[in-house]
Amino acid sequence: MTSDTKQTEPVTELTAELRGLITGARFVLFDFDGPICRLFAGHKAEQVAEDQVRWLEARGLSGLLTDEERAEPDPHAVLRAVDRRHQGSDLVIELEERLTSQELRAVGLAYPTPYVDPLIRTWHAVGARLAIATNNSPLVASRYLATRGLTDCFAPHIYGRTPDLSLLKPHPHCLNRALSALGAEPSGTLMIGDADTDFQAAERAGVRFLGYARNEGKEKILRAAGAEFVVGSLQPVLQILRGQT
Ligand SMILES: [Mg+2]
Repeated sequence: MTSDTKQTEPVTELTAELRGLITGARFVLFDFDGPICRLFAGHKAEQVAEDQVRWLEARGLSGLLTDEERAEPDPHAVLRAVDRRHQGSDLVIELEERLTSQELRAVGLAYPTPYVDPLIRTWHAVGARLAIATNNSPLVASRYLATRGLTDCFAPHIYGRTPDLSLLKPHPHCLNRALSALGAEPSGTLMIGDADTDFQAAERAGVRFLGYARNEGKEKILRAAGAEFVVGSLQPVLQILRGQT
């Protein structure tokens, strides 16, 4: 973001630290929705959340949600709220399946994050091992990556939502699965995410963190969570990486 110019510390020092973070990463875990694409760019997340609420209402189950949860624009939050009250129930399973099908519909209208495709290819080419660690369905991430010709940079390391919704980030479960499958040392691993829950999961997994914030609101949330490194564009990350090759 404009963080380079807004920072009070000398830019060169910050750049040097950012360079170390990027070039020192032997394993890179990407959150999916945000750093790789805007999944709900065309098929709005708010609409998906509203659909979930209406679907519950139609079944006489609107009492499962508080007023605040009913107004929640994030479909994951609605899903989690229902899961907290009826963990592992058929209702939660059905709601999760509905979310997966909405996410799959969104893939066709998803908007690629600027610079991320060449960033992924470059990181892969210089020998870093890459994985996806997402709260979305792993099917959705796989399908999107295939549309961009990026499958080979990640496969088979795509770790997403499982039937146990209590393991969604900020739980470090999907990061730990990636670390273990890659045989990765947490200290040599970098997580790139756009949400406070990504930062919290990275802390718990003991991996380093680079925040990606496409607007000031997202940057504020990441900084408030404690993220030290936040970029508003992946372009400088790509530049640093290309400088290394
Ligand atoms: Mg995200």
